[in-house]
Amino acid sequence: MSDTADERYMKEALKQAKKAAAIMETPIGCVIVRDGKIIARGYNKRNLKKNTLAHAEILAINKASRVVGDWRLEDCTLYVTLEPCPMCAGAIVQARIPRVVIGAMNGKAGCAGSVVDLLRHPGFNHQAQVETGVLEEDCAAMLSGFFKELRRARKEAKAALTSEAKKAILDTTKETS
Ligand SMILES: [Zn+2]
Repeated sequence: MSDTADERYMKEALKQAKKAAAIMETPIGCVIVRDGKIIARGYNKRNLKKNTLAHAEILAINKASRVVGDWRLEDCTLYVTLEPCPMCAGAIVQARIPRVVIGAMNGKAGCAGSVVDLLRHPGFNHQAQVETGVLEEDCAAMLSGFFKELRRARKEAKAALTSEAKKAILDTTKETS
């Protein structure tokens, strides 16, 4: 079965997420598409930039606005591997992005229906069309794999530290005996 257009672009967003994982950032990736062309890419750089605003979607929206030359991204579709947080959902509404395609849902912070639905809130002057579950398993696996690896690395570091400490203690006792 060949990929749908949404799946093809979500794969591009996943490639961005992978770049985040490579620098030990939570792997979340985003692309913005206009007229069948990717005009902006972004991945989470919160730790790298030491900046709470450096989410994948915000970085991609910034880039897309520079490309389009407007704060309004009215003919664009935003693809993101994880359901947007309140800040990013807010930025999507502000940028008037008409369509949002989401990979995995985020029960703890998602604002496209999980915690609240900012993207389709009838009280705002803009509602996006939202597509969820596109390559959901791949997007979720990217995150769970990353956290699993992080836990393993932490455990290993702790174990290494412990054996170093043991050796140091043994060496000290040797010297004093
Ligand atoms: Zn966000």
